Amino acid sequence: MRYSLLGKTGMNVSALGFGCMRLPMKGASVDRDLSTPMLRRAVDLGINFFDSAIGYCNHDSEKALGDAMQGIRHKVFLSTKNGNHQAAPAEWRRHLENSLTYLRTDYLDLYNHHGINWDVFVKNLDPSKDGLTKEMLRAKEEGLVRHVGFSFHDHPDSLKKLADTGIFENVILQYNLLDQANAEAMHYAREKGMGIVVMGPVGGGRLGLKSDTIADLTGGEAKSTVEAALRFVWAHPAVNIALSGMETMAMLEENIHIAETARPFTKDQVAALDRAVAERKKKSGLYCTACRYCTPTCPQSIPIPETLEALNNYLIYGLKDHALNQYAGLNVKSVECIACGKCLDKCPQKIDIPDRMRQAAKLFDKRIGSILYDARFTKVTPAGSFALRVSAQNMTEKPANIDVHAAGADTTVFSRTAARISDIPSFRTKNIVLEGEFTPSLGSIDCSIDLTHESTTETITKHHRYLILRKGLADNWTDGQWLEACPKPEDFSEKKESAALHGMRFKLSYDDAGLLVLANVKDDLLFPSHPDAHKGQLVDGLELFLDGRKPERIGNPSYEYGVSQIALYPGFKDNAPAFYHVWTSHKEFKIDLSSERTGQGYRMRMRIPFSSFCAGDGVPGKIGFDLAVNTADESGRRIAQYVFAGGPDNHQNAANFREVWLA
Ligand code: SF4
Ligand code: SF4
Repeated sequence: MRYSLLGKTGMNVSALGFGCMRLPMKGASVDRDLSTPMLRRAVDLGINFFDSAIGYCNHDSEKALGDAMQGIRHKVFLSTKNGNHQAAPAEWRRHLENSLTYLRTDYLDLYNHHGINWDVFVKNLDPSKDGLTKEMLRAKEEGLVRHVGFSFHDHPDSLKKLADTGIFENVILQYNLLDQANAEAMHYAREKGMGIVVMGPVGGGRLGLKSDTIADLTGGEAKSTVEAALRFVWAHPAVNIALSGMETMAMLEENIHIAETARPFTKDQVAALDRAVAERKKKSGLYCTACRYCTPTCPQSIPIPETLEALNNYLIYGLKDHALNQYAGLNVKSVECIACGKCLDKCPQKIDIPDRMRQAAKLFDKRIGSILYDARFTKVTPAGSFALRVSAQNMTEKPANIDVHAAGADTTVFSRTAARISDIPSFRTKNIVLEGEFTPSLGSIDCSIDLTHESTTETITKHHRYLILRKGLADNWTDGQWLEACPKPEDFSEKKESAALHGMRFKLSYDDAGLLVLANVKDDLLFPSHPDAHKGQLVDGLELFLDGRKPERIGNPSYEYGVSQIALYPGFKDNAPAFYHVWTSHKEFKIDLSSERTGQGYRMRMRIPFSSFCAGDGVPGKIGFDLAVNTADESGRRIAQYVFAGGPDNHQNAANFREVWLA
């Protein structure tokens, strides 16, 4: 094992560090029978730097590491992280003291702010403005912490600014074969005397996967992808430690073997590797620098650089499974590309983006070869007429014809019930508009649309229920004008047994100033007002999803300006009801909120000013809306979610919110 001095700390650390974020689990806890022997074996084999964090392994990583280091604490350097950047100083300090207890030690060799960026530093951590680093430095003076640092997720320029503060002795950051953005800033931080610990040297496990392509790219120099990845990281002259999140004894032995036997790549080898990758990318038309000039122009909000990254991982690095997972995780898929070409002249690399989007769709998307359908209202009037646009996207190689059959339910009546969308070119979308009438006082339009592709016998039926809100009175929450809705128990995802304890009926209305929501929640309130609630820990409560973008953007899957996700807490026991922005682009988000206990749970009333979440002035014509009941266990893990629009994790895609018309 090679060792080096970690910046100016004086700590002589091993080139391979042990990241304790993926320790083997048994249920909700780290499996001590596996983790303790592995962590102790790591010490025997020469690893002397171990890094953890408060939340790792379901909050059990620090305890498992502390258990394993009993009797050998003096042989190792322990590092952990505190991510409570918005905490009061006393509470932040409590987390530090907890970490010392869990790690069973009197001092930490390295204590880090967890996952910071420049804005967080300025807002919450700057010691010259009484930020939490002051607390960190006090702990250092007291000897509880020997050295201070941070882990980092931001633009490389921010790393330079943080290095310039002269406060921090170490940074833990991302750098690997696939992501070299920090390469130059790492030199800078090193020159400022900081230690450099690289997390994700194997790209968060991506480079732990087999890829003959990567071995080829190294000219046969590396015998495995992991070897290539580690040797690449160690080749950076500023790097002290490659911090690997090892899960098994076999992984540990493999990494140790590489650390013992393989040398870091030479400068020439790294240059040759970079050249080979760049050549392949250029040849494949995939040389994306992630500048993002293209993304604001895309009417479909396709994450173009991320899609190209998945293509790169598949085609250039041969990381096929990883690329498929990456694509699956994207909010908007490249099948949504309508080949409008608006992105083309924005790309300095002259990438044929529409072509690449189609290539990604063909490689990754299971829907290729089929027809995608969508239906949305384009007009709803208070008098009770509507226009419904039905779109069909042809994802096959040939032109397609689609037969559409519309059927209204309750009082919804279409003026024509059958239509054809003809000659939809390959990989293009065509629409038709169906008009009809409904009875506004019933509060919804109900219909189903059957779509049949002529080349298949299969008919796809889509049911649509659109909510029509009418004006209500905020001081009369039982007024008959209110729309009342109740999600189905089947919507309760994950743990069915939780449905017995939870449920929701809610009422919606609006007045001139804002949206009015009354939620009646059946709930066991197991954990209703945890002190950490406002810092993101999940407790029993509600989530509110609002899409207040311009009408033509409502229903677009991406989160952007005008889409908000708010956590609401009933606040029983000591606290008043509270809300917390999980995600919102609006700086001044306001809710008038009240809550009360009921026999079976609680009731929350809220008025949300339109100005808080809507793009235009006054009452909007329509919004996207969803409401979810969350239920958590004592440790703040979500165990079930009950979503009005149906389906778990609804919030990850704004297209899933219910469309609500304010007639
Ligand atoms: S061509 Fe496709 S990716 Fe480019 S802007 Fe149009 S829809 Fe977006
Ligand atoms: S403009 Fe070109 S290089 Fe920049 S992110 Fe988009 S595709 Fe990549």
